[in-house]
Order: sequence, then C-alpha cells, then structure tokens
Amino acid sequence: MTLTQAKEYLLTLEKAVVALNHAMSILSLDGETAAPSQSWRGRGETMAYLAEREYHLLADERVREAIACVLQHRSECDEVMVRRAEEFGERIEESLLTPPEELAENERLLNEASAVWHEAKVNDDYASFAPYLDRLMEMRRRFARRKDAGKPPYDVLLDRYEKGLTAARLDPFFDLLRSGLTPVIQAVAERPAPRTDFLHRHYPIELQRRFSDRVMALMGLPRDRCAIAETEHPFTDSNSKWDVRISTHYYESDVASSLYSVVHEGGHALYELGTGDELQFTILGGGSSMSIHESQSRFYENLIGRSAPFCRVLFPILREIFPGQTADVTAEEFYRAVNMAQPSLIRTEADELTYPLHILVRYELEKQMMAGDVTAADLPALWKELYGRYLGVTVPDDRQGVLQDSHWAGGAFGYFPSYALGSAYGVQMLEAMQRDIPVWDEVAAGNLAPVTAWLGERIHRYGMLKKPSELLVSAGVDPFDPQKYVDYLRRKFTELYNL
Ligand SMILES: [Zn+2]
Repeated sequence: MTLTQAKEYLLTLEKAVVALNHAMSILSLDGETAAPSQSWRGRGETMAYLAEREYHLLADERVREAIACVLQHRSECDEVMVRRAEEFGERIEESLLTPPEELAENERLLNEASAVWHEAKVNDDYASFAPYLDRLMEMRRRFARRKDAGKPPYDVLLDRYEKGLTAARLDPFFDLLRSGLTPVIQAVAERPAPRTDFLHRHYPIELQRRFSDRVMALMGLPRDRCAIAETEHPFTDSNSKWDVRISTHYYESDVASSLYSVVHEGGHALYELGTGDELQFTILGGGSSMSIHESQSRFYENLIGRSAPFCRVLFPILREIFPGQTADVTAEEFYRAVNMAQPSLIRTEADELTYPLHILVRYELEKQMMAGDVTAADLPALWKELYGRYLGVTVPDDRQGVLQDSHWAGGAFGYFPSYALGSAYGVQMLEAMQRDIPVWDEVAAGNLAPVTAWLGERIHRYGMLKKPSELLVSAGVDPFDPQKYVDYLRRKFTELYNL
C-alpha cells in the first residue's frame, strides 16, 4: 500500500465511521427526548446493527496496514493526518477487544438499561435496575481485563477518559480536596444562611424557556448551530460544529436548577462549536479529554456563572422575565443565593464548595465496583453511608441517592473524576486568562466574547489534536496544582460568609 492509497483508504473509512456515529448519536438523542418510552425495543436492534457495522469496518486488515503506512511516513504527513491515524489505531485496538456478537449484545444492554433506569428513577425502584447495573459492571470489567489484564480494571477505565489517569494519581487529589474543603464547609455551616426563598417561588416552564434563550444569547451560543432540548438529565451532544445539542430539565419551583444546567451545558457546547474547521467530520472532533471538556462547562457554570459580576448582569434579565417572583430581591441577594453552600443530596444541584465531595463518594464506590468488591445490591447502603460520612446528610430514598445520575446506566464508570479534575483545571485556566485579558471588566459589561475567544484560541479549536498535558502547556497554564482549586474555593466562601 502506498502512502497515497493509505491516506485515501483512511479518509473513506473515516467518512463511514463518522456517518455511523452520527446516526447512533441522533438515535440516542431521539431516545432521550422525543421518542416514546417503549421505543427502546426497536432502537436497541438498530443500534446493535450499526455497532456491528462499525466493528466490521474497523476489523478489516487493510485498516491496520493503512495506519501503519501513515505512521511510518509521518514526516510526509500533516499533523492532523498523523493524529487521525493514531486515534484510529487506538479505537481499533479497543473495539476489536470485544467480539462482534458481544458488542451488539452490549449495545442492546446499554439501550435497555437506560430505559429501565429512567423508569426506576421516576418510581424510586432501585431493585428493578440493580440486575442491569450488575451486568453493566461486569461488561466494563471484562473490557478492562481484555485491554490490560495487568492493571486494575478501574485504572484502565480512567485512562479512557483522561490518558494516564490512575487511582494512584487521584487518591492524593481527593485527599487534598477533602482535607482542604471540610473545614471550610464546617465553618460555613456555623454562619447564617443567605435567603434563597425567592429561587423556589413559582417559575412557569414556558417563561423559563425564554430565560434559557436569553442566557444562551448572553453566552454567545448561536441558535442556528446549537439547539436546546428538555431531558431527565441535562447533557451535551455534538455531531459537528454546525450541530450541537444541549439539554436541560425545568423545575417550576427551582429557577436556578435549569439556569446552571444551561450555563454548564453551554460551556460544553462552546467547546464543540469552537473546534477547528479542519477537524469537522473527522474522528478528531470532540474534546481533548473528558476532564478538559468538564473544565469548560464548569468554567462557565461556576467561575463565570456564579461570580458576582456575572450575577449582576444576569439579575436584570431574570427580573425582566419574572418581575413578580423577584420584586423584593436585589442582585446581591441573587448572587448570595446561587452560592449558598450547604451539604445536600443531588450532585448536579450542589454548590461549588461541597460539589467535590459528591464526586468523592462516586469515586470511592467506582473503585470498589470495578475491583469486584461490591455488587449492585450493596450500593444503596454504601451510598447512604458515604453521604453521611463526607457530607453529613441522610439520604431518604434511592431516587435522591444512588439512582440520581445517568452515568452508570450508560456504562460510564470512571467518568465522575473528570468533573473534579476539570474544575481544578478551570481555576488554573482562569489564572492564565487573567494574565492576558481583563476578565472581570468584560464579564461585568456582559461581554463574554473575549473569554470565549481566549478559550477558543488556546483550547477549543484543537479538538482532540492535542493531549491534555500538551494543550495546557501550550495554553500557558501553569503545571497542575490542585491546591489552587482549594485556595480559590476557600477565598470565595470566606468572603461570601465572612468566615
Ligand atoms: Zn458536564
């Protein structure tokens, strides 16, 4: 095979893989949004068929030949071509670990488990989901053993979301978060709580939709390339920079919930919308790693979204759409209310200060789950025990406990640490950004464009082209130092609560 043939071969293959992924992504999005609840039956079969098609495309001997050829001639190829070949190599190695019949079976399981989880969460019926969770855990452990039997399965899975990440690296990170944040959380608990009553007045969904539109406009999210849907669990899905989907969940008695979901998912969306043109419809779309992706969403949600300058910009919009609900409220009270720190039950609605401890609970459970030390039947009790130990809260039911997140139902074990790592990366990105631009003057003026442009030039446009460590160095971010994340939170909450 000549280099020209190898390149052509890979480009043709890439088109097919991208098309299959596009179809699967829209099918699963449809399953989460418009499709009726029983539709999983047929969708599972279609997804299984498409997954098998992808397997057979990748299993072709010529693919490996073409990849080897490009990598041998890497000096004659551009950077994008080399990264595509490398990425294909890794994907192929992964997908060929599982026999095609099993792959199809996995797709069916994932599809059915997600439908069962939805029902189980609504009905607070963990028992109906537990057998699926056991099968999902076994599916991922089996995958990990096949990929690298010499490593703990959890490390193999962590590496899929962030290259080189291990429990040995995460243990001291979480220890630092726990020891650094617990005294702050305790000190906050002794101070008077800010008023939050007005966040829980009646906020009609129709008006909340209008509010989302305004928030998306403020963030600079172009509606002809980014749509918003309503789902049980908010998420972001991207097919290219011209087709990004975010979702939110509206609660009529909690205006902040959807607000910060939109800002969070909007951060993910800006990443996808900002990837380079040359990466569109290639396998290099998407972020450098899941932690880097979460660094962007949590950057907008917290560092910007829950800052005093941004809250002062947001508040007049809130007041315009909900004059009655906010008549007796000031912008300062709004800022304090959306930053109220208090140990709670639900991760996605947790404040910035206690949030990392919600992740710690999941991290500790995942380690045991992937080591095979616990079964699904053990999890509700362990969940309650860890929430008691780290957050001091009593979990009343599984709906607000072990069933709350969709990740495990989707087979994503090892994803949760990305949120905490991403938050820590975000703090260091902000530090670098402040050296370059007057961040807070711009935010106070309601102008997020320079912030997004800074991230766009240094992070977003590279998609998967750069690995996380290279990306952070080239963005001018200092070497990773989680103490800075702890210091940022301590500073912010010391000021908020006059500690
Ligand atoms: Zn996210």
